[in-house]
Amino acid sequence: MRAKAMCVLGAALLLPTSLLSAGTVDTVKAEGGDIRITPILHGSVQIEHGDTVIYVDPWSRGDYSEAPKADLILVTDIHGDHLDVEMIAKLRKDSTILVVPAAAADKVEGETVMANGDKKEAAGLQIEAIPMYNLKRGPEEGGLYHEKGRGNGYVLTLGGERVYLAGDTACIPEMRQLSDITVAFVPMNLPYTMTPTEAAECVKAFRPKVVYPFHYRGSDLGEFSASLEGEAGIEVRIRDWYPGS
Ligand code: ZN
Repeated sequence: MRAKAMCVLGAALLLPTSLLSAGTVDTVKAEGGDIRITPILHGSVQIEHGDTVIYVDPWSRGDYSEAPKADLILVTDIHGDHLDVEMIAKLRKDSTILVVPAAAADKVEGETVMANGDKKEAAGLQIEAIPMYNLKRGPEEGGLYHEKGRGNGYVLTLGGERVYLAGDTACIPEMRQLSDITVAFVPMNLPYTMTPTEAAECVKAFRPKVVYPFHYRGSDLGEFSASLEGEAGIEVRIRDWYPGS
């Protein structure tokens, strides 16, 4: 219901932040207890299942004051909003597994490198690295903001459910072809990734049960929700990923 109400409001207004509360923990049903999801900032997410604590692209501009140490940290790419070495160090304990693409490996120590297509079992869950890249958009003619092969999106399997973190990407064939995704985090913002409508069209192709627009700074989320209006079986969860701004 909340997503539907947001859709109506979101089209006309900027984010009605009074309806959103930063730091709220969302849940998704899974074996062994709910998966708990905390939107932190921009592309930074905290995910928990049982005793396992996972951070994706932890970024020190977010509020990590209550954050427990990580069992698993996943880094998608080399830019500052994804690879924050200081924040990673703060969240790490001896047993933390840190997964990064090769392009980020020389910035950290004790890392596990995954390339597009790699699969691994770590911290009691399955991790699959998915490509993330631009199809057209780039800083100059012929260049791309995100080159294919450099960064990773990830599909995590936790408690029997598949959680997809897309990374900074366009609507690539590898996203369209995903199946059996319970929760998806999909980016949008120009010029770096997609428009809200492009993101929504991609979501229609792989049909996650729950989708969070994230990494959306400045984008019109009403456009995203409106494009998915009436799509049975896809719940859109609009959250405030920019608390305090
Ligand atoms: Zn980014």
